[in-house]
Amino acid sequence: MSETLTDSRGRVIDYLRISVTDRCNLRCMYCMPESSENPDGGPVFLPQEELLTAGEWITFARAASMAGIRKIRLTGGEPLMRPDLTELVRGIAALPQVEQVVMTTNGVGLAGKIRELKEAGLSGVNISLDSLETEGYRRIAGRDRCREALEGLSACLEAQIPVKINCVPVGGINDSQWLSLAALAKTYPVQVRFIEMMPIGEGKDFPPIDSGQIRETLEQAFGPLFPVSHQAGQGPAEVFTRPDFAGSIGFIQAVQHGFCSTCNRIRATAEGKIKLCLHHPVNGDVRELIRAGKTPEELCSWLTRLVQAKPADGYHTDESRPMWRIGG
Ligand code: SAM
Ligand code: SF4
Repeated sequence: MSETLTDSRGRVIDYLRISVTDRCNLRCMYCMPESSENPDGGPVFLPQEELLTAGEWITFARAASMAGIRKIRLTGGEPLMRPDLTELVRGIAALPQVEQVVMTTNGVGLAGKIRELKEAGLSGVNISLDSLETEGYRRIAGRDRCREALEGLSACLEAQIPVKINCVPVGGINDSQWLSLAALAKTYPVQVRFIEMMPIGEGKDFPPIDSGQIRETLEQAFGPLFPVSHQAGQGPAEVFTRPDFAGSIGFIQAVQHGFCSTCNRIRATAEGKIKLCLHHPVNGDVRELIRAGKTPEELCSWLTRLVQAKPADGYHTDESRPMWRIGG
């Protein structure tokens, strides 16, 4: 039986983003800077027992797929920090109603894992790369791991898994990198996406850069960019390409967006709280229900009811958690 999950406004909800951990091996300046939260330095992570186990996530994914979820993204924190990531991917990808399991990662350590993850059922990867240049990367990401991230990207291209590259433009910090990053889409069949800084967590300290400004810079260098008609999986990105490009360029205007009326997604945080909108506080606790012994059928009914409360829009952020504690 194939169910469709709709909210009280008639939006079809078929996309779940699961933050599988709050841990990370980078300290991006707009997400989890070294100084975040802890006066002694460094972020404070959830105790291990508060994170859902692979088995618990697979149970929830089963329930969500029974309710109507078709695409699941694993994110974090950094999903590659989970030693049982392959088991998690395999378990979720095996669910009959799940059509896609994808991951958002910083790519550090991905080179040694991508073949195994692909074989387990991972169908696409978004790699976050704000700079291709060692010093610029270290400045943004707080760690000297540019080479490892680029190795992760190369390994994905070799493994022929669909890749999107996410860059968050930070004024005065990575402006000089926009062209080099966009040029990856000229050479390789990847989509390079410029994602507007969101006023969430540390992101509040950085003014968003208008995508028109970036597009103008790219067009001066490459020539006109032509819109690609909206395709499934494109989400809120406006996508462009050129005849001499192997891939495409996407712009996600997260702040000046107009895509709430077609939003198809919900999120789960690393400790199992459900977020019906990125910009609103949590709405339910799946860990509590799973640990109380609820069956996938019971969880499915619960989620179907919960989704009805999805807010109409997120034009104003009420969320006080930083992005790494939500799952970006
Ligand atoms: N660690 C993984 C990574 O970096 O891809 C997954 C989690 S990270 C929170 C997911 C995405 O959120 C990254 O592409 C990151 O650049 C983006 N991000 C974090 N804080 C943001 C903010 N304030 N505004 C926009 N994007 C943000
Ligand atoms: Fe880690 Fe991703 Fe946040 Fe960077 S953006 S600190 S890689 S969770």
